Amino acid sequence: MFGSKKNTKYIFVAGGVMSAIGKGITASSIAKIMQSRGLKVTALKIDPYVNVDAGTMTPTEHGEVFVLADGMECDQDMGNYERFLDTDLTRDNYMTTGSVYLSVITKERNLEYGGRNVEVVPDIPNEVIAKIDAAVAATDSDVAVVEVGGTVGEYQNVLFLEAYRILKFHHPGDCAFMLVSYLPVLNGELKSKPTQYAVRSVNAAGIVPDVVIARSASVIDAKRKERIAFNCSLHVEEIISAPNVESIYEVPINFEDQGLGELLAKKLGLGGRDRDMKEWRGLVDTIHAATEPIKIAIAGKYFTTGEYVLTDSYISVLEAIKHAAYQQARKPVIEWVNVEDFEKDPSQLSKLDQYGGVIVPGGFGDRGVEGKIAVIQYCREKKIPYLGLCYGMQLMVVEYARHIAGMTDANTTEVDPKTTHPVIDILPEQKELLAKKQYGASMRLGNYPATLKQGTIVREQYGKDEVIERHRHRYEVNPEYIAEIEKAGLVFSGTSPSRKLMEFAELPKDKHPYFVGTQAHPELISRPLRPHPLFAGLIAAAIDRKV
Ligand code: GLN
Repeated sequence: MFGSKKNTKYIFVAGGVMSAIGKGITASSIAKIMQSRGLKVTALKIDPYVNVDAGTMTPTEHGEVFVLADGMECDQDMGNYERFLDTDLTRDNYMTTGSVYLSVITKERNLEYGGRNVEVVPDIPNEVIAKIDAAVAATDSDVAVVEVGGTVGEYQNVLFLEAYRILKFHHPGDCAFMLVSYLPVLNGELKSKPTQYAVRSVNAAGIVPDVVIARSASVIDAKRKERIAFNCSLHVEEIISAPNVESIYEVPINFEDQGLGELLAKKLGLGGRDRDMKEWRGLVDTIHAATEPIKIAIAGKYFTTGEYVLTDSYISVLEAIKHAAYQQARKPVIEWVNVEDFEKDPSQLSKLDQYGGVIVPGGFGDRGVEGKIAVIQYCREKKIPYLGLCYGMQLMVVEYARHIAGMTDANTTEVDPKTTHPVIDILPEQKELLAKKQYGASMRLGNYPATLKQGTIVREQYGKDEVIERHRHRYEVNPEYIAEIEKAGLVFSGTSPSRKLMEFAELPKDKHPYFVGTQAHPELISRPLRPHPLFAGLIAAAIDRKV
């Protein structure tokens, strides 16, 4: 029988009408509300892709690849769950069509189905449920919030809806289905028909939604809630208005103030518990109180896809900047600067003067690299606070080697495999995997410890000697050049415990107010109520710069 533990509660969150309406934030907010009632909550994301994980998807197609502590490469919504719940999730919390089929096929090959026919229904939905239950069991959770990617009515997610139908059949009192729908406004009138069709699609899958989260540009008043409720065969309190808000962190409070926590508790037989959204309300108050701007630039490249021009997506970097800025009572103003402009016209680098601080985030490939190096050189020379994340640290080492250590053609072998000064190079063990064309998960992924050097900026910022950070990269600082680069003045302020891998680099404070890079992705572990120390350091230095 299903259910890893007696009385586990399952809350499914699915989208209707259209995508990109904030299903991930909705799921995170619902999870937060349930957590605030003193319950142990875990959150799962189901992606309809056949890709087994997000590691092989390009960011233009799928947005940021979020990396979990255990190295799982997954959807950016997982980052939202971690930020809202302030919990580290694991690979149990993420599945795709591909990963579900892979487990079923592996089990079949291992004769685990006892020779019977293995069928799409019910074996695939049953595997989905087994995976949800495994995540619940691993975390001993009371509640699982499960977000289904895509929109209802698509063929792609029908088997995930079927998993819900089966769960509800076995545990009628323990399941709730939330439909996140969009209500467009036409000539000033809020249109509910698309939502009615979405409800009907859910009904066709044998499911009756418990709640409609009504996304719209503005607040939906009681009268219009009533109309939507009637048309969708729901009660008025089961329609939750989800207007656009200034900060995503307001959403749980908005839901809670409309009684969603109580409603779900009643539906799921959870009884009344104390609600404690105090800390979270404090966060929202801090966000509203932060009015003085602090300008931070992210220096990266643009992508064109069809008719559209997009920036690389760095949701976690944006959120990490915001967390640190709010804590220091500043309103973050984050601007994207196109590094390729600087390659064409270096005089444009003076645009950077207006920012309190600059970030070169993670990245891959050779496009825009010279522009990024120019940005780093400019920040170093003009003493603009700088934080380099992963590629942003590797290129900081390249820049320093070229312009200070006298290795004029220094480069990363990712860009120039023939350089005579490969200051950034691939690890031998990764080389083997690539030679075998094993690109999936061929990187250094997930949590790794580092030891920090006394008397450095990073040691001061973290306030401890040992840290653990998440990684996603193939290349490293080449050990052959460490001594020479350090002699020229760049400090490797943190290394792997064996001292083989350089995890942090910086310039001493007497040379630059804040010139720091890390091989890791600290943005992935910044939390709204616990900003990351390296981002906090950047913001503090940016405030000191007084621009
Ligand atoms: N391209 C670099 C590497 O693979 C950096 C990766 C990153 O920034 N995530 O090592």
